[in-house]
Amino acid sequence: MIEAEQNRLAAAAVRIETRAWIDGEVCHAASGETFATVAPSTGDHLADVAACGPEDVDRAVRAARRVFDDGTWSRCDPTDRKVVLLRLADLLRKHGDELALLESRDSGKTIRDCRNEVAHEVPNFFQWYAETIDKSFDRIAPTGPTAFAAIVKEPIGVAGLIVPWNFPLLMAAWKLAPALATGCSVVLKPAEQTPLTALRLGELAAEAGLPPGVLNIIPGLGETAGQAIGRHPDIDTVSFTGSGEVGAYLLGYAAQSNRKPVGLELGGKSPFLVLEDARITDSLIEAAVMAAFWNGGQNCSANMRQIIHRHHHEEFAARVTARVASLVVGDPLDPATDIGALVTAEHRDRVAGYVAAGRSEGARLVRGGETLQGNPGFFLTPAVFEGLKPDMRIAREEIFGPVLGMMVVDSDDEALRMAVDTDFGLHASVFTRDLDKAFRFARALPVGTVSVNSFSEGSIATPFGGYRRSGSLSRDNGLEAMAQYQQTKTVWIGLGADQ
Ligand code: NAP
Ligand code: MG
Repeated sequence: MIEAEQNRLAAAAVRIETRAWIDGEVCHAASGETFATVAPSTGDHLADVAACGPEDVDRAVRAARRVFDDGTWSRCDPTDRKVVLLRLADLLRKHGDELALLESRDSGKTIRDCRNEVAHEVPNFFQWYAETIDKSFDRIAPTGPTAFAAIVKEPIGVAGLIVPWNFPLLMAAWKLAPALATGCSVVLKPAEQTPLTALRLGELAAEAGLPPGVLNIIPGLGETAGQAIGRHPDIDTVSFTGSGEVGAYLLGYAAQSNRKPVGLELGGKSPFLVLEDARITDSLIEAAVMAAFWNGGQNCSANMRQIIHRHHHEEFAARVTARVASLVVGDPLDPATDIGALVTAEHRDRVAGYVAAGRSEGARLVRGGETLQGNPGFFLTPAVFEGLKPDMRIAREEIFGPVLGMMVVDSDDEALRMAVDTDFGLHASVFTRDLDKAFRFARALPVGTVSVNSFSEGSIATPFGGYRRSGSLSRDNGLEAMAQYQQTKTVWIGLGADQ
């Protein structure tokens, strides 16, 4: 309790930046317009932020292009680039707690998660990619004696990065760190609901020594600032995380402008499978609960479709429900809180609408799905359903909130059929003690990440992205992420010609 109060005081004291960052300087939107960001846990107005539009995006792109073309960053000595990004990682660590408090306030996410993501993972991403810079080699192709052929990677140019609100600074880091490491210049648009932590990045990057124009941060609305990035003829690639609907718009904008490649990380409807031979341990129950409720279920890889072999159903349901009953919903700045506020009142109502739909379609609500009476924040208690059927809306559509649904199956083959019966393909968890079965399911599931006997999306080192409608061929994280920001050139040198 004392710590919660200390966090509240510290959070209220964190300096808020509301302006855009273009060409190494803070600035207001050209139009002078602003939009409000609120604290989801109280509904309080936090700040009025620059509502940038096409004119601001264009100015940012011109700065990004200028510095890309003059080579200050894109063609500098790899060690120099590494040193700047390592300094940025250090500065992010130094300001980690302050940024975590700001993130928690602006997004409603728990301070525990924000400290892990913002103070710990975000700097680690910059460090990890920085360290790859002077250890990346190009290739030489096999040729006969009359030629020498090099296959080289080059930064693609100006990258537009558009990120969602559920992991605001972490999603930005997932894209910024590899984009900057390759030598690209970037234009970043944070989500309108959670712009504040990204807006502090500009000054830290400048302090680290990033040349003006390499990083530009454009707060604004999706339809204006986001669309202007998607349509800009001088942006060379777009990397996007968000909804399938906006992903489709971005493909359209690219087709209608300069046919830039668009990397998409979209939503999911991920299954959590408990096979016949699994053991129902405490760690399995913890994984099941976290898979559905971590970040209040506002997670694209949330495993809300929990497919349980009948043999385990009774024990699994009882233990999951008991664990969910112990989850603390409330003030995100209290370190004891497990589930903070949902990001907006509209989103909370949308999730509550799914809870109502589940009940009216005949699923049994075991507990939760309620707002906190008398609390002005955007809270919803974790909802547990039994008797989910594959054709129900709550079994097919992405909810993106604290809802867990159990489906009972009579065989492992039926579990597999049910798991793949979805348009999405981001993630799946499988619990089994049988190594053969683990491999068979890992290969059979059409998803970008399969976790066996854990709920984990992997690490910095492992690529993350979706099969089917969960994304495009691009991947965030791992060395694979660099591919979004690079193109491949062949240099063919004729030998022995009489030049
Ligand atoms: P969203 O509406 O798609 O927004 C994502 C970003 O796109 C925001 O910055 C948004 O700006 C921007 N945007 C909106 N309309 C746009 C337009 N017409 N042109 C260009 N940009 C536009 O998604 P969200 O509601 O923020 O986030 C929830 C969704 O993200 C869920 O569906 C979830 O599955 C998905 N998600 C996926 C992953 C993944 O890695 N696969 C990770 C996290 C979230 P404004 O916010 O300013 O409007
Ligand atoms: Mg906010």
